[in-house]
Amino acid sequence: MTLPIMKNYINGEWVESNGTIMGDVTNPATGKKIAQVAFGTKDDVEKAVQAAREAFLQWRQTPPLTRARYIFRIKDVFEENFEEIAQTLTMENGKIIDEARAEVRRMIENVEHATAATTLMSGYTLEDIATGIDCAGHRQPMGVFAGIVPYNFPAMVPWWFLPYAIVSGNTYVLKPSEQVPMTQTKIFECLDEVGLPDGVVNMVHGSKDVVNAILDHPDIQGVSFVGSTATAKHIYKRCGETGKRVQALGGAKNVVGIMPDANLDAGLPSLVTSFYGVAGQRCLAGSILAPVGNIADKLVDKFLALAKKIKVGDGLSDQTAMGPMAGKIHLDRVLGYIEKGIEEGATLVLDGRDCKVEGYPDGYFVGPTIFDNVTPDMTIAREEIFGPVVCVVRCKTIEDLIQLVNTRDFANAACLYTDSGAAARKFKYEALPSMVGINIGIAAPMSFFPFGGSGNSMFGDIKAHGQEIFHFFTDTKVVIERWF
Ligand code: NAD
Repeated sequence: MTLPIMKNYINGEWVESNGTIMGDVTNPATGKKIAQVAFGTKDDVEKAVQAAREAFLQWRQTPPLTRARYIFRIKDVFEENFEEIAQTLTMENGKIIDEARAEVRRMIENVEHATAATTLMSGYTLEDIATGIDCAGHRQPMGVFAGIVPYNFPAMVPWWFLPYAIVSGNTYVLKPSEQVPMTQTKIFECLDEVGLPDGVVNMVHGSKDVVNAILDHPDIQGVSFVGSTATAKHIYKRCGETGKRVQALGGAKNVVGIMPDANLDAGLPSLVTSFYGVAGQRCLAGSILAPVGNIADKLVDKFLALAKKIKVGDGLSDQTAMGPMAGKIHLDRVLGYIEKGIEEGATLVLDGRDCKVEGYPDGYFVGPTIFDNVTPDMTIAREEIFGPVVCVVRCKTIEDLIQLVNTRDFANAACLYTDSGAAARKFKYEALPSMVGINIGIAAPMSFFPFGGSGNSMFGDIKAHGQEIFHFFTDTKVVIERWF
């Protein structure tokens, strides 16, 4: 059987890449190849940027309300294709179909928020800054922007940026993750139906060569990146060297603290989802479960009982509660961390290594795993595992918990379960990560609030979506004038 080959979308047309290196796209539940993607080249990027640059002038002059009307049309086409996008996503990424649907919904919420551009990209004015002199700040689009995105949210993450960039009057080049290129291909098929002017949105598939060509291209004004911290640092540095705007969101090691007064019965379902949703492959996933004081034994018992019930399998089946790892390399990495935890002396309470799913002998499955008695200095408590592995670090006091949060190498999110307002206040005031959940296991800001961490989880200052995103995609031109 010949496999479909993912094409680039440049200047309103589907085109083959110049690249000769092919990557395989695999269904992680079956381990079978389902498509191929050509790794694009510098030349592919050049063509996409040229199309975007040529489209810019006319697009910039299109009134913001008219641009917003295109965004409304994008929403309609996405709604019509909602289920097909979600199914494609599960097929290539593995997450369960309900998680895929939730992701597509979050993608659409960004489209909805972007329609507010006529208000959110407005500038401001002040008369008489000196006698007879007026001043105005106009938010102007800047030209071509680019997005480079990870494998774990193939639908949503690109749309944390793209709709805001184009509704502000810029044009765009997207590079999806080479591991999951089918979802954005489906999404760009939808965009093709909308009838945006040619060159306003472009997509180039590929890997490092495409990324580096984007980073070095003199006609790209800014880059939005989401992925691991190692790559985020590379992006940030190289964009600095080439003078681009940049927002680079990196990895995470999120702590979820449980106070002795926490309402466990109410909180447990969301706690379990925090650690095992998307098989732990979320930048907001709980990774360290940190009970404070005497709640620890009760918490571990109850959590273990629920974890044992999780049915692992093909994400397309309605019976499945947790899908596979998104690829063989991810499976191997997680198994490696489980070995490491054992070697370092943590207590393996639930072992997900030998996870067999009937009818799926070649799937990349790992079952829910729990380590108890993890200490803050162990590798599994410091590094991002990005899989369904819970590390229980027992804390004596809330001060110990906050110390644990603030000494991780990342600062993406942190959560606290408690019935105490004072504990909640102390935690949200003192914890360093920029996304905090109180009795919420996944502190995921919606499209109208900013998304992004601090420390090694975020490089740059303007985060994804929220109102601030319009600042990233515009330059404030200040005009000071007087008339004689
Ligand atoms: P990754 O860094 O390996 O890849 C991300 C993108 O960068 C891909 O498009 C890839 O092609 C490109 N890339 C990879 N290595 C590169 C290199 N050496 N040079 C140039 N480009 C390179 O990340 P991933 O494995 O796809 O995604 C998982 C990571 O993303 C996790 O660390 C997760 O925490 C993080 N993530 C963070 C957020 C957030 O909001 N902070 C959201 C989602 C995922």
